[in-house]
Amino acid sequence: MCCEQVERQLGRYVDDEISAAEREKIETHLGFCSSCQAELEEMRELVRGIAQPPAVTVPDFLWASIARRLDKTDRTISPARPLRRLRFRGAPWAIAAGVVLAVGLSMFGLSSLESTAHASTVDFGVLLDALPLDAQKAFRKFLMRYDAKPSTPVAAKRIASALNFDTPPVLPGGFRLQSVYELRIGGTRGIAAAYDRDGEFLAAVFHPPMKHEKFGSHENLPCVIGDHCGHKVQVGEWKLVHLTDPTTCHCLLSRVDEQSEMPAVMAAIAPKLTETGPTSDHHHP
Ligand SMILES: [Zn+2]
Repeated sequence: MCCEQVERQLGRYVDDEISAAEREKIETHLGFCSSCQAELEEMRELVRGIAQPPAVTVPDFLWASIARRLDKTDRTISPARPLRRLRFRGAPWAIAAGVVLAVGLSMFGLSSLESTAHASTVDFGVLLDALPLDAQKAFRKFLMRYDAKPSTPVAAKRIASALNFDTPPVLPGGFRLQSVYELRIGGTRGIAAAYDRDGEFLAAVFHPPMKHEKFGSHENLPCVIGDHCGHKVQVGEWKLVHLTDPTTCHCLLSRVDEQSEMPAVMAAIAPKLTETGPTSDHHHP
């Protein structure tokens, strides 16, 4: 067994979903391969849920206001300084979060940090930046960031019952389901699924529509999949495509061709979105 074969099986190995013979082969390989051992440890960590809490992200439009307020605070409201230092020492994001809370409270009259700083944003920057090096690792980083817990297709449906999505065992084109995860995106739930086709990785993320999806330095451009309008970010041969309906944003990370393969794959993971035909009278949100 080579590293690539082992890596592809690790998820099922951790979930104890492989035969005794496969298990033995993997364990033999793990016995001498430190890189696969590290991979296994990383995956176990993910499974245990010892993920870093998601960093608080701040919508761009709030940054200017935050910067102004911090600046003002420093110069005019001196009693706030030691307190801020004390509580948020060395954690600029925590300071930002506190200010977002304050700004959020005063601007929108909202009462929880969750609804202002967390739940309105999904940040794909970490995923997109690491894509060209290793797509699966990039995806795992994204999973860790959103506190992923292993799940099953059935449990995922129950957990995210408000979302319209499907994680079939096999997708058009022959991609096989490897794993399903439950995500925490601020106060809301999301679902992620990883697929494999002879070593070709494909992943889907489902989350409620949000005001902000962040893509780091990558450009998000309009695109058309089948008869639906969406958005995409392209990084090398990888594409992160989003189609949104009123309940769900369907995010597909893959290398499949947009014209030929992608419409069928998208239809399989976004059933209600695509069940209306091109002639029917439906609207785009
Ligand atoms: Zn999305």
